[in-house]
Amino acid sequence: MVMQSTDVYVGGFVFFSPTTHFTEVADMIEPFTHLTVCLDMAGCPNRCRHCWLGHAPNGHLTEDDLTFVAEAFRPFTGCLPVYDWYREPDYPDRYEARWALCQRLSDVHEAHFELVSFWRIVRDPRYVQWLSALGLKQAQLTLFGGPETTDFYTGRKGAYHEILEAMEILIAHRISPRIQIFVNQENLCELPFLESLIERLDLDNRCKAFGGEFSCFMHQGSCDGENEKLYGIRVTSDDLSRIPPVLAAYTRKHFHRSRIEDVFGQTEQSLYAQLIDDSSTASYVSRTPVFYVDGQFNVYPNVAPPEPAWRLGNLKADGVEAVLENYVQSKSIAQRTRLTVPLGRIVTSQGDPASQRLFSEGDYIEYLLNTYCRR
Ligand code: SF4
Repeated sequence: MVMQSTDVYVGGFVFFSPTTHFTEVADMIEPFTHLTVCLDMAGCPNRCRHCWLGHAPNGHLTEDDLTFVAEAFRPFTGCLPVYDWYREPDYPDRYEARWALCQRLSDVHEAHFELVSFWRIVRDPRYVQWLSALGLKQAQLTLFGGPETTDFYTGRKGAYHEILEAMEILIAHRISPRIQIFVNQENLCELPFLESLIERLDLDNRCKAFGGEFSCFMHQGSCDGENEKLYGIRVTSDDLSRIPPVLAAYTRKHFHRSRIEDVFGQTEQSLYAQLIDDSSTASYVSRTPVFYVDGQFNVYPNVAPPEPAWRLGNLKADGVEAVLENYVQSKSIAQRTRLTVPLGRIVTSQGDPASQRLFSEGDYIEYLLNTYCRR
């Protein structure tokens, strides 16, 4: 690789100046120390209204496609973990074969994530046995309120009852449920119902009885993908007093925070005031990237939803070298914007100086960047 002196390495990130020139594409891409690739082979049975990954159609990719994707990226890293999903894990019928294939294609073998398919758990008795045999100790399930609200926000009728059934199946197999609750101004009123449900089901004691640990946490989620559409009903600082004490305690414990305010972040008004004079720019390029590959082989860095502004190219049409060149030279619209437009200008353009909605700083900057790119 040929770098000009203006190229800068900062921590785990490598910044290539816009004036960097390379003799050949292959010379340009210094091996990544660790490169993770996730292929959206089958999509998801749900259409959650908070989903940061958006609602792309479900794909029907094959194991040959997964092998193709893994082999495309392999020459560019010494360590390649491969996943056959980035939406619902284990949704396709051949989940065991695909897990085994991912193990063969990967240089490191990580444990199964705590994300599982509740769609499959209630339809396929072998699935939970397989999860248990892999050593899974905890599995995450997402609730939004009672049956009607959870079905509405999951985007599928019957979801609430399936989630409750999945909880029982997990406990019967000594896997502790971990409940995630997404909260906005519309479902705040259902939190007391969820608190009573958790206590009525005695989840804490039932998990302790087999040596497990029940956990639960609430948050508002990032403000991207489908969840960006819920900006108008995002929780504010005044709303936090409506969180029931048991749910607040579980949440503080999960995030290791002493105050619930530290989980939900700052008001947009406060972040706006802090960032409006910030003239910094930033690179999203990492030596250890994670790439999402969608059902049409479009590639995106996983820092944001797989949206056009973040698209790096198409593995089939453009080839992996062009995709990685676009990545390391920050050529996607969103990367280029963040690298060249001072943050304060993005804040002034897209932020609301009077808003009391709550954000972490990182989520707020990403929300503003995404809206700025779509102006
Ligand atoms: S949040 Fe998860 S389960 Fe819901 S639609 Fe997105 S990928 Fe599917």
